[in-house]
Amino acid sequence: MSGRYAPSPSGPLHFGNLRTALLAWLQARLTSQPFILRIEDLDLPRTRPGSSRQLIDDLHWLGFDWDEGPDIGGHATPYYQSRRTALYEDAFAQLLDQGLIYPCYCSRKDIQHAASAPHGDEHGLIYPGTCRDIKQRAKMEKRHPEKVAAWRYKVPAGTVEFEDRILGNIAQSLDREVGDFVIKRADGLFAYQLAVVVDDGLMAISDVVRGADLLDSTARQIELFGALGYPAPDFWHVPLMLDDTGTRLSKRDGSDSLEAWQQQNKSAADLIGHLAFSVGLIDEERAITAKELLQSLTVDLLRDRLIASSQ
Ligand code: GLU
Repeated sequence: MSGRYAPSPSGPLHFGNLRTALLAWLQARLTSQPFILRIEDLDLPRTRPGSSRQLIDDLHWLGFDWDEGPDIGGHATPYYQSRRTALYEDAFAQLLDQGLIYPCYCSRKDIQHAASAPHGDEHGLIYPGTCRDIKQRAKMEKRHPEKVAAWRYKVPAGTVEFEDRILGNIAQSLDREVGDFVIKRADGLFAYQLAVVVDDGLMAISDVVRGADLLDSTARQIELFGALGYPAPDFWHVPLMLDDTGTRLSKRDGSDSLEAWQQQNKSAADLIGHLAFSVGLIDEERAITAKELLQSLTVDLLRDRLIASSQ
């Protein structure tokens, strides 16, 4: 039973990331669960040197602490995804043994050509399952002899349903809305969907508090938890922080950065107050430390406020 915060070190954390960290930390501490920090640096080419150190320092500066993490170790070490490849290989072998994955030789063009509906993966495509069929797959392999296969998970028919702690009942049909999704990319990297499930499973995570942008990945992950024999955690999809124009914050933008905040001589308590107020945890914007905020809340109150601010 643990909570976690799992940032990607692709640049400095913006206020939206820090607010999610605050909420994840509060949820774990209010339920007296261990809190784990995991660095999701799987996609090394997108990782910025120094980002991991910086984000650890930033989280400490804000007054958060954790029981396991890259700087202190713990029962599920290592806490950098880039050093956990052997564990993903094991999970991959387990899925292969069960006949749940298959190699796919389709190019993006092939998929665009065959895909039926504009939803699906991060490119908005539902993979039509071409390479599920062994004959079609042989055809594709012949068509692209230079191509290294990606590996896809065979999604079952039917609907995955779960009760999000903030957003309530969520249902997604993996075969109709997502399609067979990639768990190992053609460049050899394991996909986020597989890595996150292996890590949350092995780290015995019971509550995943994360941004609502990941809601769409959750049904896939619940399916993978089942296939790999882990109980699925509870999910708390918290609202994303928007700027004054109603646009989602992005790491590239940099305006809502800790560095800029510190340069204005504002304190950690000022920022905790700003973040807490923005999501309705306090009634007016004022300086408050992370510890004081924790003492002013219960887990039910935290949940009620998050539900209210998600509406
Ligand atoms: N690493 C992901 C991110 O920074 C979060 C993954 C998760 O919480 O499941 O957006």
